[in-house]
Amino acid sequence: MKIEDRLFLVKFNPDKESHLVIKDRKTCRHCEFKPCQYFCPAQVYEWDEEQKLITVAYEGCFECGACRTGCPYLNIDWRYPKGGYGVAFRYG
Ligand code: SF4
Ligand code: SF4
Repeated sequence: MKIEDRLFLVKFNPDKESHLVIKDRKTCRHCEFKPCQYFCPAQVYEWDEEQKLITVAYEGCFECGACRTGCPYLNIDWRYPKGGYGVAFRYG
């Protein structure tokens, strides 16, 4: 099965509040390569050049946990979404 087909099987039930929190936005401004934009398979993180901050599209998070260790400054507070929210998989 192709990855596109697998991703089609993913569905989300997003909470109103983000389960992903940037601890210190100033740190992101000094983060040279902003690797969160590349290691996240769901492309949740995006640098907003105008506002000088990382935006977090938490609704599409796959809950893989990579951002717990991928940020060189450990600047992402990661936790699972509250019960009933977050990613779900559809079978068949
Ligand atoms: S990798 Fe971490 S410090 Fe760098 S921009 Fe992303 S969240 Fe901010
Ligand atoms: S847990 Fe995985 S999918 Fe979710 S934001 Fe972090 S790296 Fe992206």
